[in-house]
Amino acid sequence: MTPAPTHWDLAVVGAGPAGAATALGALHAEPGLRVALLDRADFPRDKACGDGVAPHVLDLLAEVGVTGLVDDRVPVDRLRLGAGGVVTERRMTRPAWVVPRRILDARLADAAVAAGARLLRHRVRDLRQHTDAVVLDGEVSAAVVAGADGAHSVVRRALGLSRGPAALALRGYAPVAPGRHGAQVIEFGTRHQPSYAWSFDRGDGLANVGYGEFLHADRPAPTRAQLLERLEALLPGATEGGRHWVGHHLPLSTARRRVPTGRVLLVGDAACLVNPLTGEGIHSAVATGIAAGRAAAAALREGRPERAGERYARATRRILLPHLRHTALAARLARSTRVIEAGLRAAAADQRVFDDFVELGLARGRLTPTLALGLGRAFLVPVRPSGRPQEPA
Ligand SMILES: Cc1cc2nc3c(=O)[nH]c(=O)nc-3n(C[C@H](O)[C@H](O)[C@H](O)COP(=O)(O)OP(=O)(O)OC[C@H]3O[C@@H](n4cnc5c(N)ncnc54)[C@H](O)[C@@H]3O)c2cc1C
Repeated sequence: MTPAPTHWDLAVVGAGPAGAATALGALHAEPGLRVALLDRADFPRDKACGDGVAPHVLDLLAEVGVTGLVDDRVPVDRLRLGAGGVVTERRMTRPAWVVPRRILDARLADAAVAAGARLLRHRVRDLRQHTDAVVLDGEVSAAVVAGADGAHSVVRRALGLSRGPAALALRGYAPVAPGRHGAQVIEFGTRHQPSYAWSFDRGDGLANVGYGEFLHADRPAPTRAQLLERLEALLPGATEGGRHWVGHHLPLSTARRRVPTGRVLLVGDAACLVNPLTGEGIHSAVATGIAAGRAAAAALREGRPERAGERYARATRRILLPHLRHTALAARLARSTRVIEAGLRAAAADQRVFDDFVELGLARGRLTPTLALGLGRAFLVPVRPSGRPQEPA
């Protein structure tokens, strides 16, 4: 094995979906680049997640030459959404996937290595910016660095940026409970807003089950026991036989974040890009990773690595800003149980409302006129005491 160089064109801190996608984006654009992918963990490794992978993630990966990633997994095309007794269940236009992160992330890291990246076991603790390079821990230097090191990013802290709003969620694996086979089931909370419990069928007899809620600055964070109790209260039977419980923070997106310019970029959870409505973060991680990789490659090609951040900021504004604005507004509205229930009634009444809601929650969708109109109408429909809307006469 040839020894790893100590100077790289691009060093990516963190080899999760955002980091692997950054390496893939850069190497697809410029196959000769020297790219280091540094992670504190050996792969395969677990990661607290609902394991829900939107089909849009696969579209993005295909753009950088990665295909067949989930061919051996079982697609899930039914989505059931519930809140306070209102339930809507429909087929999604395109199926989603439930892929344990132990599998997904190892495959993504392998794809990055196959494209030419060097995967190195290294926990980054320190980042220094010099005029001509960025140096990590005094030993790894690179023309451009991408921070893809997750919710508690060391790179983000080194840039002096804070995390912002966050949620806390706990997940485990349990036998699929009766009535929840072949579906992604989400039950919104009515007491601790915004919150929801989920059961996502993995297709192998087990479901990824979990519960998460928004963290309020003026209240203590829920304990592990409370998270488990709230999961069981919303989805009875979900915790039965459950194992491998792990919790983690979700750094939620807002439309107001400053994107740093210069040689150091932030992607995925490190850039606080989790959808505040649904907790989806893999799509944003892969989308921003690819954009950052491409921006780094273009800046290096023109011999101006210090322009990588500016290029990346322009690209993310273009691909993400409208979506971030719309999800920020939707998440604010969703703090009201009445809005969630009206949304579910609207989705039950009209497949197009349901489809637009899925787009908003899983990928880059917006609050469309169809969604807004459906929501408005649902507010006007008289509701029976059970919470179910009356059938039209
Ligand atoms: C309970 C839960 C459920 C969720 N459910 C879903 C879901 O169903 N679908 C969805 O799309 N999203 C979900 N999310 C969000 C999703 O998990 C994240 O948005 C996604 O993992 C972000 O990817 P990332 O690559 O940015 O970060 P991560 O996946 O966190 O990867 C970061 C990597 O950086 C490494 N690292 C960290 N610090 C260092 C360091 N100092 N030096 C070197 N390496 C380091 C870590 O080892 C890790 O490999 C969920 C999150 C939680 C907590």
